[in-house]
Amino acid sequence: MKNMTDCLFCKIIAKEIPSSMVYEGSQAVGFKDINPKAKHHILVVPRKHIDSVMAMEEGDQELVGHLIWDAKKIAEDLQLEGYQLRFHVGAKGGQEIFHLHLHLLAD
Ligand code: AMP
Ligand code: ZN
Repeated sequence: MKNMTDCLFCKIIAKEIPSSMVYEGSQAVGFKDINPKAKHHILVVPRKHIDSVMAMEEGDQELVGHLIWDAKKIAEDLQLEGYQLRFHVGAKGGQEIFHLHLHLLAD
């Protein structure tokens, strides 16, 4: 596992680095992607550091289910009528930041 003190998203969650936070839940936060690929582009990020879907362990299933639930809540707040939820998994799956996150995208 990557050193969490070097993790950009851990630093954003700890408010050591600024972000446009739109949601702060008990298990995850949501903030605007700095380089949006759609009109609405939010990253839903667990407070617990997990590198990737590939690095999930037994017991992490509920947390990942929670990310989808939180994304649904954020989408409702934004009154989105439809959206995409996307995980990039591993470098060969397009993942650049190795702290698990769910992309919420909508135009
Ligand atoms: P991924 O390819 O799934 O690892 O996507 C990482 C995403 O994080 C990209 O869409 C980036 O634009 C986004 N990103 C990188 N740095 C920041 C940051 N400081 N604040 C918000 N989003 C970021
Ligand atoms: Zn992290």
